[in-house]
Amino acid sequence: TVEVHDVHKWYGAHRVLNGVDLTVRPGEVTVILGPSGSGKSTLLRVINHLEKPEIGHVSLNGEPIGVRRHGTRLKELGERAILAQRGRIGFVFQNFNLFPHLTVLDNVAAAPVATRRLAKPAALELARDLLARVGLADKAGAYPRQLSGGQQQRVAIARALALRPGVILFDEPTSALDPELVGEVLAVIKDLATSGTTLVIVTHEIGFAREIADRVVFMDGGRIVEQGPPSEVLDAPRHERTRDFLSKVL
Ligand code: ATP
Ligand code: MG
Repeated sequence: TVEVHDVHKWYGAHRVLNGVDLTVRPGEVTVILGPSGSGKSTLLRVINHLEKPEIGHVSLNGEPIGVRRHGTRLKELGERAILAQRGRIGFVFQNFNLFPHLTVLDNVAAAPVATRRLAKPAALELARDLLARVGLADKAGAYPRQLSGGQQQRVAIARALALRPGVILFDEPTSALDPELVGEVLAVIKDLATSGTTLVIVTHEIGFAREIADRVVFMDGGRIVEQGPPSEVLDAPRHERTRDFLSKVL
């Protein structure tokens, strides 16, 4: 379970998150929607502690992320402890962020080896299994630049899976892709969803959200305006701002 507790984030006078509370239960698929600048990426980055909130915190299975309790206060954890926690939270970026100098196989195997979760041979075996799962068994020896955007994003998903994270965060995973490549990436994400992986996905693909989301969260101005099953938030939104947004993206 991921719990976001009253998270506030600001940059100087610019308030980006204004008290976000969110619970993601094991096996749930949460889709986050909202206009540009509403704080969706910042929320994902706070969840895996790439950004530190000014107020509030995030916990994974009851354990605070990036901080530890010190009496009644929270103290920042050290770099190593944060990296270890981040291994339990997968992150897939809009622009894939693969290592250009590593083969596809090594991209997927790198993290389990670097974190010493697995010895090299076991990590390579796992990487081959994961590449097969995303339909790229035949691309193990290729370099990222030799792949299409959709293939690169599927490698990025396999890489996120390699640490067996408790939850995977996706930040607009298909928005950098040519339209004809979107479907293959959504199919892989859908496969993860139906196999019970806990997912938090920022996307503008409303049809996809309706299909796979257990819960849709609509954000505006650094706040959650409303959340609920797709049948409520997408088909019968209660707030004017949600209706307005949906009328523009549908
Ligand atoms: P988009 O749909 O365009 O990706 P978003 O909902 O993901 O938007 P965020 O990227 O979370 O929005 O940004 C929210 C606000 O915070 C924006 O106004 C942005 O300019 C601001 N912001 C984000 N990161 C920083 C930063 N490092 N320094 C200053 N302002 C920032
Ligand atoms: Mg964003």
